Amino acid sequence: MTLHFISDLHLADDTPALNRLFLDTLAAWQGRIDGLYILGDLFEYWVGDDDDSPFLDEMLSAMRRFAETTPLYVMRGNRDFLFGAGFAQRSGATLLEEPCLIEAFGQPWLLCHGDALCTDDTAYQQFRAVSRSPAWQAAMLARPLAERHAIAAQARQQSEMAKQQNGLTPISDVTEQAVAALLDAHGWPTLIHGHTHRPATHWHRHGEHAAQRWVIQDWHGSAGGYLRLDENGLRALPLSA
Ligand code: MN
Repeated sequence: MTLHFISDLHLADDTPALNRLFLDTLAAWQGRIDGLYILGDLFEYWVGDDDDSPFLDEMLSAMRRFAETTPLYVMRGNRDFLFGAGFAQRSGATLLEEPCLIEAFGQPWLLCHGDALCTDDTAYQQFRAVSRSPAWQAAMLARPLAERHAIAAQARQQSEMAKQQNGLTPISDVTEQAVAALLDAHGWPTLIHGHTHRPATHWHRHGEHAAQRWVIQDWHGSAGGYLRLDENGLRALPLSA
């Protein structure tokens, strides 16, 4: 049995090399693995399941073809948190709520996107709480599609500017306390997440408990990476065109 994990592809209509890499990767893995988990931020932004742009149609049809033979699971990220039932239908993917505990090779594995663990960023956590509420989402989705695209473009621009000014700041990483609380709540399984763009393997310890935390590599330029879980355990591997 082999499971693959990817996250933070940030695909958009202006990332043709990454979109090609995603399509080629799906074709290469289809029927050859036992499950693909996409742990958030598959898309740079998602303005609603009714977005019928040709770029999205191409990506979602490829996913649907993949899912016909290979189990495909998708979790929401902080960019594509508006995924709903329409997305699941168009992509053939099973939407996972986070955190999600799976069992493989006789062990539990805990999956999440990772943004909820960055608790030092209080402004973001406030926005996160508000934007996950059904009322906020209903109001957003009631706006015309073009208006939602304009809002997303503005948010994307602000995020790019902040990244250029601040780079990778400590508040954009997880906190020890948040990780320990999550692991405590689930009995200290191995934790797998993305979001922080800091691919690495960490050990976390608390009292007699210890668990590994694997951070998935983001995709950018024309390259990416994935985690492979098989009978030998977890491994981080590169992907490129
Ligand atoms: Mn993210």
